[in-house]
Amino acid sequence: MGLKIWLGDGLVDQQDAAISVFDHSFLYGDGVFEGIRVYSGNIFEHRAHLVRLYESAKVLCLPVPMDIDEMTAAVEQTVRANNIADGYIRLIISRGIGDLGLDPFLCKDGKVVIIADNVQLYPEALYQKGIKVASVSSVRNHPLSCPPQVKSLNYLNNIMAKIEANQAGAAEGIMYNHLGFVAEATADNIFIIKNGVVCTPPTQAGALDGIIRRVVMELAEKENIKVVEKDLTRFDLYVADEMFLTGTGAEVIGVVEMDGRAIGDGVPGAITHQLRDLFFSYARP
Ligand code: PMP
Repeated sequence: MGLKIWLGDGLVDQQDAAISVFDHSFLYGDGVFEGIRVYSGNIFEHRAHLVRLYESAKVLCLPVPMDIDEMTAAVEQTVRANNIADGYIRLIISRGIGDLGLDPFLCKDGKVVIIADNVQLYPEALYQKGIKVASVSSVRNHPLSCPPQVKSLNYLNNIMAKIEANQAGAAEGIMYNHLGFVAEATADNIFIIKNGVVCTPPTQAGALDGIIRRVVMELAEKENIKVVEKDLTRFDLYVADEMFLTGTGAEVIGVVEMDGRAIGDGVPGAITHQLRDLFFSYARP
């Protein structure tokens, strides 16, 4: 049996959930999205995700055809209709149907699409072993291009980066900004630990204001682990004691090798394990 998909203003069967080829989300990647986890039936950090979605839409002058409370209800209804207890929600706002030109203001009938499905996870062994990452040459969006805080449907920069990482035999790519400072991974935020201090690039460095990033920073501070947002260089990453990535899909995952150099002892570190456990209990109380 297929899924029930929210399309426009209600639920439809998966086979009927279709978007026009004239929708600018298809023609130009013009739209925004969110990825949200469901843990034991609870929509994780639901409000924070929706705030980020509406802010992304605002930056792109993209009308969202429902307010945030209606969106909250639509997401909940989609999760319930598909009996998702532990899963993943993909929420998309498309620009709508226009002509073959770029002009977004000629587009009509932008669609809200909500897909609630089971989640594809990294295998547990990878969390124990840690992953390999590689520096990539694809530069994170310049602040004067489509801002890196916008979760737009155009992810080609990150896709180029992911291709490079895969071709280097790494699970994730580390992206730098136009100034050469570390920004983030292709779909995750990055953290290092040096001398007991947890450090992560600020959003101005091109990091998405990740929801899991924020939660992990708060959990660390509650445990009196010092957290600093500061510009990081490739050097800082190579000589870090520990490194981990955060994201809705990956949660908290240790990095043990970067560009052929072992990170710390070459195994996920003690603080990484601690933060992963804290996040695990916070998300699944
Ligand atoms: N950076 C990018 C580019 C992403 O796509 C994501 C995943 N949404 C993240 C970071 C992590 O953000 P979050 O913790 O909100 O999933």
